[in-house]
Amino acid sequence: MQHSQAVGSQDPAKMNRLYLYRPFVNAALVNGNFKTIVMLPKFVSVNEWVAINIFDFFTNINSFYGVINEFCTSQTCTSMSVGPGRDCLWIDQNRKQLRLPAPHYIDLVMSWVQGLVDDEAIFPTKSGRDFPQNFPSQIKLVYRLLLHVFAHIYHAHFQIVLHLKSEGHLNSLFAHYLAFGREFGLLDTKDLKGGVPSSSAAGTGPVAIGDLYEKWKELEILE
Ligand SMILES: [Zn+2]
Repeated sequence: MQHSQAVGSQDPAKMNRLYLYRPFVNAALVNGNFKTIVMLPKFVSVNEWVAINIFDFFTNINSFYGVINEFCTSQTCTSMSVGPGRDCLWIDQNRKQLRLPAPHYIDLVMSWVQGLVDDEAIFPTKSGRDFPQNFPSQIKLVYRLLLHVFAHIYHAHFQIVLHLKSEGHLNSLFAHYLAFGREFGLLDTKDLKGGVPSSSAAGTGPVAIGDLYEKWKELEILE
C-alpha cells in the first residue's frame, strides 16, 4: 500500500508527501463541481470576477498561513522550500536572487499582494473605473507567488495541517484555486510540474504540488 509505505518511511520528504495519499488527498473536498463555482456569473466582467476571487483567495490563504505560522520560522524553514530539493528564490528590485527563510519570503509575498489589492489603480472598487492594462500580468504573478505559499505549506507543514485537522480546508481552498486558475488561464502548468532540481528563481520554478494537481485531475476533482 502506497499510503502505509509513505507513513513508514524515514525519508522526511516522503513523510511530507502524505497529501498525495488517501484519505488526505480527497479529504473534505467539495462534493459537486468546481466548474460551476468558478464560472463567470452573468453581468460580471471577467476582470471584476478575477479581482473578487483573487481577493478571497489571498484573504483565505493569508489567514490559513496565520494559523500555522508559529511552526514556520527562520529556524525550521531556512529556505522557501516548495518540494523535495526545490526552493524558490526571491527576486528583489535589483533583480538579485535571494535565498530567504520561508517566513520572510511569505511575508514579502503577502505584503506585496496586500499592497496590490489595496491599490485603487489596480483593484478599482468604484464602479465604472477601468482595470489597468497590466492587470492580467500582475494577476498572473500573484497567482504564481500564492502558489509558492500553497506549495510550501503542503511540502513543509502538512503534518501540522493534519494535526490541526485542517487538511479538508486546505484541500478545498487549493482545489478551488487550481480550478479557478485553470478556467481563467492564470495558472501556468509549468509552474506546477517538477523538473528543476534544488533552487529555482521565484516566478520560474516548478513546484512539487504538481503531483497533487495531476492526482486531482485524475480523480476529476477539478471538473
Ligand atoms: Zn515553513
